[in-house]
Amino acid sequence: MSRVYNFSAGPAVLPEEVLKEVAEEMMDYQGSGMSVMEMSHRSADFQKIIDEAEQDLRDLMKIPDNYKVLFLQGGASQQFAAIPMNLMKNKVADYIVTGQWAKKAYQEAQKYGKANKIASSEDKTFSYIPDCSDLPISPDADYVYICENNTIYGTKFKELPNTKGKTLVADVSSCFLSEPVDVSKYGIIYGGVQKNIGPAGMVISIIREDLITDDVLEGTPTMLKFKTQADAGSLYNTPNCYCIYVCGKVFKWLKKMGGLEEMQRRNIEKAKILYDFLDQSKLFKGTVVPEDRSLMNVPFVTGDKDMDAKFVKEAKEAGLVNLKGHRTVGGMRASIYNAMPKEGVEALVAFMKKFEEENA
Ligand code: PLP
Repeated sequence: MSRVYNFSAGPAVLPEEVLKEVAEEMMDYQGSGMSVMEMSHRSADFQKIIDEAEQDLRDLMKIPDNYKVLFLQGGASQQFAAIPMNLMKNKVADYIVTGQWAKKAYQEAQKYGKANKIASSEDKTFSYIPDCSDLPISPDADYVYICENNTIYGTKFKELPNTKGKTLVADVSSCFLSEPVDVSKYGIIYGGVQKNIGPAGMVISIIREDLITDDVLEGTPTMLKFKTQADAGSLYNTPNCYCIYVCGKVFKWLKKMGGLEEMQRRNIEKAKILYDFLDQSKLFKGTVVPEDRSLMNVPFVTGDKDMDAKFVKEAKEAGLVNLKGHRTVGGMRASIYNAMPKEGVEALVAFMKKFEEENA
């Protein structure tokens, strides 16, 4: 078996320790005589898996008791609709558009009410985070929406926006569990798990209880109503059982590694290796203003499309894969989530140095 260093933005690298454990339990989960894939979601074994996953996540993120944790299908994109359907009581919401994902959420919300774009960084290809200290928040806004880490463009809110008392909703798909967060600052904090946590096909939504009500927009599907899912403990219908199981393994791995403080320390260390190299390179250039750089997604370019393509091809041959930038921006992008070891980033930088010397 030979493993590569996988810099994919998602689905993405998972901890090897977790993959091994999952493989060992594939045919016989802890003496049950069956795989978790074959297990009833109403069984005692599965209830224990989902309960432990929730508790471990609560421990890791220090989630206050007045928040529900929902394991939902439909990915992060389905929340783009579910959020306005559940929260738009006044049919007004403010969106800060800092990339493709925030833009998609903003466009989706327009179907359900008045979604206002109150700030944007589109003027400079989303390469920075706008000043959010004094935004024109709508007096009747039901919430203010951000995408906290921009997977495609590699920017991250280092400070949360001043919402002037309005509920903050954040998509944290690509920075989930990468550092400690104060959950109490958010009304909803949610993310697709396929980047930092587990296999694709699930979103975890952490929602303050007062936002979970029967008062939703007319026509809201039963499955998209937060209350349906909260009342049923994410088991209204058959959930993504296997994904919940793998995510649970990752939560235990994170706890064992030292929790989110330790992840933050490691992520800062890893990102610094790459950014320090980019800052002195004569061939490669980071595309994001230094103060808003993500620790998770690092886009860079040579400025020459053919050179970029040559780099991606040769890197792949060297076992450094999925470095091609998003199709809308080109260039390269290295996603260095929790499970990417420091050695992977060091191998990437060593390869970039060699490539630079050879192509100077
Ligand atoms: N939000 C962010 C920040 C993302 O990076 C992505 C996917 O890459 C999504 C939302 C969409 O996630 P999903 O494919 O789970 O709908």
